[in-house]
Amino acid sequence: MNEMLINSRDLRFQLYELLGIEALTQRERFAEHSRETFDAALETARQIAEEQFAPHNRKGDENEPVFRDGRAETIPETKTAWHAFAEAGFLAAHHDAEDGGMQMPTTIQQACHGYFFAANVSTAAYPFLTVAAGNLLGAHGSAEQKERWLPPMLDGRFSGTMALTEPHAGSSLGDLRTRAIPQDDGSYRIVGNKIYISGGEQDITDNIVHMVIARIEGA
Ligand SMILES: Cc1cc2nc3c(=O)[nH]c(=O)nc-3n(C[C@H](O)[C@H](O)[C@H](O)COP(=O)(O)OP(=O)(O)OC[C@H]3O[C@@H](n4cnc5c(N)ncnc54)[C@H](O)[C@@H]3O)c2cc1C
Repeated sequence: MNEMLINSRDLRFQLYELLGIEALTQRERFAEHSRETFDAALETARQIAEEQFAPHNRKGDENEPVFRDGRAETIPETKTAWHAFAEAGFLAAHHDAEDGGMQMPTTIQQACHGYFFAANVSTAAYPFLTVAAGNLLGAHGSAEQKERWLPPMLDGRFSGTMALTEPHAGSSLGDLRTRAIPQDDGSYRIVGNKIYISGGEQDITDNIVHMVIARIEGA
């Protein structure tokens, strides 16, 4: 087995021998899984990471995204990698089967992500931020929000971001000034400034779903 990114024997030692991850398959949520499905996911991740992420790691660094005529432009390889990641189901792997996921244990999902981090951390940031934004939506979104935004974030049509940092507040998020003003229809009007938002603009997906941290007025 090719060992370009992560030593497969080391990874399997950690998962199966040290953590005893196969025991999870005794739980109802993971009953459909087995060592074979875990290994298949790891092998798919390794292959896509090597073939679609690693080869343009240097090219991506040398050709950073540019903002031209009101549009962000990324190198084409970033888009190909995004679609390969999404089509293999890695955006949705840990979600419920009824939502289009595979109910993959988080430990295996994270082990798969390790290959993409090792291959190309810049390109991997787009799907990983989307996974995180999808987790937030899944945990805290209303039924209506989940129905509207989660499916396209899980199948790769939309990406997600985390908009936390402000010009005067990075680590000290308690100092953030962005306000969320409740409206009569249950929505919030957001007022403020955010900077350094990874994937905040790109030409990879049809839409970008921003998770914006803000202080609710009156709270
Ligand atoms: C590549 C990149 C991508 C980013 N992507 C995103 C993104 O997607 N979304 C987003 O919201 N933000 C993003 N950021 C912003 C990032 O989250 C902030 O840069 C980070 O939170 C640090 O804030 P700061 O730069 O204002 O530094 P500061 O908070 O001003 O910190 C400056 C220094 O002081 C130290 N420090 C801060 N507080 C303390 C403390 N209480 N005690 C001791 N030391 C302290 C820090 O360790 C650091 O060395 C990104 C940044 C980078 C570089």
